[in-house]
Amino acid sequence: MKLMADYKNIRDMIDESNSILITSHYSGDGDAVGSQLAMFNYLKQLGKNVEIYDEGEISFQYKFLPGFSNIKDISEATGENKFDLAIVLDSSNLDRIGKVKELLDSQTKIINIDHHPDDDHFGDLNLVVQSASSTAEILTQMFFDIGFEIDKDTATVLYAAILTDTGRFRYESTGRRTMELAGLLIERGAAPRKICDSIYFANSPGMTRLTGKVLNNAEFIADGKVCMLEITNQLLKEYDCNLEDFVGMAAYTLTTKDAVVGALFKELPGGKTEVSLRSKNILNVSNVAHLYGGGGHCNAAGFVVDMQLKDIRLKVMDNLKGLVNASV
Ligand code: 5GP
Ligand code: MN
Repeated sequence: MKLMADYKNIRDMIDESNSILITSHYSGDGDAVGSQLAMFNYLKQLGKNVEIYDEGEISFQYKFLPGFSNIKDISEATGENKFDLAIVLDSSNLDRIGKVKELLDSQTKIINIDHHPDDDHFGDLNLVVQSASSTAEILTQMFFDIGFEIDKDTATVLYAAILTDTGRFRYESTGRRTMELAGLLIERGAAPRKICDSIYFANSPGMTRLTGKVLNNAEFIADGKVCMLEITNQLLKEYDCNLEDFVGMAAYTLTTKDAVVGALFKELPGGKTEVSLRSKNILNVSNVAHLYGGGGHCNAAGFVVDMQLKDIRLKVMDNLKGLVNASV
C-alpha cells in the first residue's frame, strides 16, 4: 500500500536526520499551526532536535493551543540554523513558506505533507492526499496507522486543525473518515466545546464591533449571487484590531441565502491587498485565485497582490460576475 510505503520512507528520512525544521505557509491558519505542533510532538517523542519557524503573523485564535510557544518567527533565526530535513506542512508550493526558504540549503531534504489540489510536489518525498479535509487529517491517520501514542496535547492541536480547515465540519471535504478521526481524537482528550469556543467565541469587543461595521458595508452584485466585504486599515485603527485576527471573516460572505460566491478584501501595508475567495457548490474560485498568482481549493482560495484594495476589488468583481454567469 502506497500510504504505508510513504510512512516508512518518512520515518527513514527522520531517522537519518539530526536536525529537523518544521514549517508551513506564511500567516499560518489553524491547520498550519495544529499540524506543525503535532509533528513537533511526534519528533520530540522520537528524541529529535526539532525547531518550528514560520513567517507572518498568526491569529490570536490559535495561541491557546498547547505548545504554541514552540513556533518561532523567522526573524528570530540566526545564521547558525542548519537543517538536514525540512518537513513542510499544508503548503502547496515552496514559495508559500516565504523567508523560511532561506533556512534550507542544498543538503536539506524536504518532506511535503499537504492536501491542496494544486500542490506542486516540491518535496523529496510528497505525501499529498487531496481527498483529506486538512493536513492534520493526513497526520492523524498516519499517527494512528503507525501506532504513535497521541496524548491530550497532540489530540487537541490535531482536532483544532481539522475543526478549522473543515469550517467546523461543514465543507465538502468533511467525510466519514474526518469524523471518525475527530472522534478518536476526542477519545484521546481533545475537548470539542473548549477548543471551538477558544477559536470562534473569543473576540475582543472591538472585533465584534468591527465585524458589524464590515457586514453593514457588504456589497451584493449579480442578483445577490456575489457578496463582497472589505477590511480597511482605517477600520482596524478605529476599532484597535489586528488584521490577522480576522481569518474567519471570509465565511460571512456566504451567509446570505442567494450568495454563491464571496470575496473578502483586506488592506495590507505597502499598498498590497489580500483577497480571500469562497464559494458554494461547484463554482471553482481557485481558478480566479490562479489568475493573480494565488491558489487554494475549489470552495476556498486566496492571493495577495501588489495593488490598492479598490483597484483589485473592481477586477475581482468582474471575474466573479463572469464565474456566476458562466454557471447559469
Ligand atoms: P484564506 O482565504 O483562508 O487565506 O485561504 C483559503 C485557501 O486558499 C487556503 O487553502 C489557502 O492555503 C489558499 N491560499 C490562500 N492564499 C494563497 C496564495 O497566495 N497562494 C496559494 N497557492 N494558496 C493560497
Ligand atoms: Mn489546510
